[in-house]
Amino acid sequence: MMAKYKDIGIKLTPQRLAILGYLEGNKAHPSAEDIYNDLHAKYPTMSFATVYTTLATLRAKGCISELSIDPDKKRFDPNTSDHNHLICTSCKRVVDITVPFDLTLPEDSASDFMITGSHVEFFGICPECKKNNRYSREDMEKCV
Ligand code: ZN
Ligand code: MN
Repeated sequence: MMAKYKDIGIKLTPQRLAILGYLEGNKAHPSAEDIYNDLHAKYPTMSFATVYTTLATLRAKGCISELSIDPDKKRFDPNTSDHNHLICTSCKRVVDITVPFDLTLPEDSASDFMITGSHVEFFGICPECKKNNRYSREDMEKCV
């Protein structure tokens, strides 16, 4: 994975390596704040700006995806392969939906666009939040 970053011209400083290591195989869809909070203890000199600009660079190079599924904060995904997402509107946990499902846009609704991709966001209440009644009527209403 690291060799791949050398190829695209990202200077691999120790702090950037720590961020890349944190992201590798990470399925939690962390935000810049999450990454900063988790790495700051081990790398006290790492600033939030470093985390933020590194994520922006990786995103611009296509090494990670940026998700808009959480209205509170941008989330990042090192898995750039085609997949969809499901968010718990109560605890904001985001999980992958990797199983393909039929998603065909009726031809006459595409305004003559050549469709090159899609990303579906599902909203719901996760099993833990459901079990512990950790959701409000408002959360439920988002589920329609
Ligand atoms: Zn939840
Ligand atoms: Mn994902």
